[in-house]
Amino acid sequence: MQIFLSIAGILIFLFFFSFFVTSLLENEKRASFISLVAGILIPVPFLIPFFSNITYPFWFNIFLTASIVIPVLLVIIPFHRPIDYTLSFPHNRFDERDTVFARRELKPATDVYNEYYARNPDKREPDDRWREKPGLLKAGTKYYDPVLFAAADSIFEQVKKLHSRVEGKTAVQRVEVVAYQISRKIKKMVLGWGANAVGITELRDYHVYSIGGRGDRYGEVYSIDHKYAIALTVGMDYYMMKSAPAAPTILESARQYMNCGLIAVQLAEFIRSLGYPARVHIDANYKVICPLVARDAGLGEIGRLGLLMTPALGPRIRIAVVTTDLPLFIGNHQPDPTIIDFCRHCRKCAEACPVHALPFEDEEEHEGIRRWRINSESCYSYWCTAGTDCGKCVIACPFSHPDYWIHRLVRSGIRNSALFRTLAMRMDDLFYGKR
Ligand code: SF4
Ligand code: SF4
Repeated sequence: MQIFLSIAGILIFLFFFSFFVTSLLENEKRASFISLVAGILIPVPFLIPFFSNITYPFWFNIFLTASIVIPVLLVIIPFHRPIDYTLSFPHNRFDERDTVFARRELKPATDVYNEYYARNPDKREPDDRWREKPGLLKAGTKYYDPVLFAAADSIFEQVKKLHSRVEGKTAVQRVEVVAYQISRKIKKMVLGWGANAVGITELRDYHVYSIGGRGDRYGEVYSIDHKYAIALTVGMDYYMMKSAPAAPTILESARQYMNCGLIAVQLAEFIRSLGYPARVHIDANYKVICPLVARDAGLGEIGRLGLLMTPALGPRIRIAVVTTDLPLFIGNHQPDPTIIDFCRHCRKCAEACPVHALPFEDEEEHEGIRRWRINSESCYSYWCTAGTDCGKCVIACPFSHPDYWIHRLVRSGIRNSALFRTLAMRMDDLFYGKR
């Protein structure tokens, strides 16, 4: 028994020491300090008998053994709480004109402005309130930084230039492809070009906005007759996002809109060159709702903060989509109930939000689907005050930790066991703080 406890003591020390080194690399001061103290103190009772003549009573040996064995069992024994998915798929299509990004393009005293608010009088007052604020990337905002704001702005301008390439001519000569093989090649290529995940789904009716709301597509009735959608995500840098809601956040956001936009444009050009039509959906030029497409392509789940939560990077991603008629292989995606279950118990994003735009309650049913509804007016209003796209909820999320071994270990425990999920939430609060 004493040999077993001594080995356990050494393993505990090595575990916490590696955790300490990882936390130092991540520049997480609180986690470094706690893991160092834990690494020094916790192994002591395990090692005392080895370095002295002290012999523990039987019950204390059992207690020490249980303190090792129980957490290990929590990680490895599967234990799931069932999630009801029946209301996860919308029956109706969303109107893009109702998004806050479309509404911010409405100019007061114009026909479209008057027409929109005549149909939606309840939205006029909250919208006019954020219209009075300085606005995204503007001087006079709380986190105004002339250099970083200019850098972000210049990247967004480059993203706009990609809009002219979201559609293009399809080659006349069609190359015959085998769905399974071309899907594998596409996935490999897209990952090689810098995406961190890529998935394929059948394009469904509710993926496509009913009516366009941005730029010269305002009021256009959308229909896409493509059969498939390829969703790809790129990761946002953890350390840039850690500054949220300060200026580096929006610079990183812009950078990754650009990166996923470039990959998607490149992919669509490639598909067209094979003789199949393809349409790109990127920042400010979407005909589809990217998080829903990405979820159905098996890249994650929609979490409490209303964004796609991916298994490896949580919500710390940007998404682009390519719709096409190229024959593709979809595979068998199973929803990941563990993320939804984790979100139901964790409320870190809601606690971190400076304007309480995220719900603390469970999902609610609205227009036939069950989801967390964020207060997008409050959220966007804060962006107009801060000057950035905030991101405090994104970086507060325990799934946003960098993809180091300790976080991978925790994520695999989270996927495996509902009991471990509860433990992981408490540990995240302890090591990284409640906010
Ligand atoms: S981006 Fe900021 S304001 Fe918006 S929901 Fe997240 S934390 Fe709240
Ligand atoms: S912070 Fe917690 S509740 Fe919010 S999205 Fe992340 S896991 Fe879900």
